[in-house]
Amino acid sequence: MLTIADPAELAARLRLERARGRRVGFVPTMGFLHEGHASLMRLARPRCDVLVVSVFVNPLQFGPGEDLDRYPRDPEGDTSLCAAAGVDILFMPPSLYAPGHATTVAVAGLTTGLCGAARPGHFDGVTTVVARLFGLLLPDLAVFGEKDYQQLAVVRRMAADLYPTVEVVGGPLIRDADGLALSSRNAYLSPEERLRALSLSAALRAMQAEVQRGERRALALVEVGRGILQVDSLDYLEVVDPDSLVPVERLDGRARALVAGRVGRTRLIDNLLLGA
Ligand code: AMP
Repeated sequence: MLTIADPAELAARLRLERARGRRVGFVPTMGFLHEGHASLMRLARPRCDVLVVSVFVNPLQFGPGEDLDRYPRDPEGDTSLCAAAGVDILFMPPSLYAPGHATTVAVAGLTTGLCGAARPGHFDGVTTVVARLFGLLLPDLAVFGEKDYQQLAVVRRMAADLYPTVEVVGGPLIRDADGLALSSRNAYLSPEERLRALSLSAALRAMQAEVQRGERRALALVEVGRGILQVDSLDYLEVVDPDSLVPVERLDGRARALVAGRVGRTRLIDNLLLGA
């Protein structure tokens, strides 16, 4: 595995690989890698010839007062995980933006609700960095996790509009044995907070069970979930159309329950498919 820090060096290397007819696969991350990230690498590996993973904590997607300064980092652990997952190139740039950087890539519509409402500017930061990375790598394939369900939808939209040759693939959300969605931010949780963090997945599972018992009203489902949540503050618990992310009143087909809230100082998100 090659580790590259310089964006120009990465671009030159991939230009050569593409000229040889090799398919480039890409998994962008912010590091402190875990099994959720590894699952995306395993999904990408057989679908490309050159697998690139980036580790870059993108300042543009953090709001004022968010956890940019204390975001967990572990470059050595990240290197071992990537090597074990069969990654060809680990891209760890100290910075990605040109001096005086002044360009924002923004997706309308999909970004207004849910995490977009709770974290103003967050998705602009995400689409700006992903567009920058797509422009640099020109990958054939890029894999994102359903853990960040709204992000996946927003990135699909951005890619369809600006990088239609990049195939965006979604990977399933990976959980710990106790149901907690794996996240780099779980490292912030005290043992007591971790127990309460389990209430996010428990609430979603209870909503799913209620659907299996025949409940179709979104409000009734949200009430069930709210009764289980043990968060210190709730950003949202919503039942939405899985493609448009527009809230649904009744489940007449597939729908997705999405939740975000804070346990202590840690903001956690989770989501689950409801219905058939
Ligand atoms: P992050 O490092 O948190 O920015 O995440 C990088 C990529 O890994 C994103 O596409 C995430 O959706 C994905 N990811 C993070 N946690 C998980 C998980 N538990 N299961 C699946 N994908 C995940």
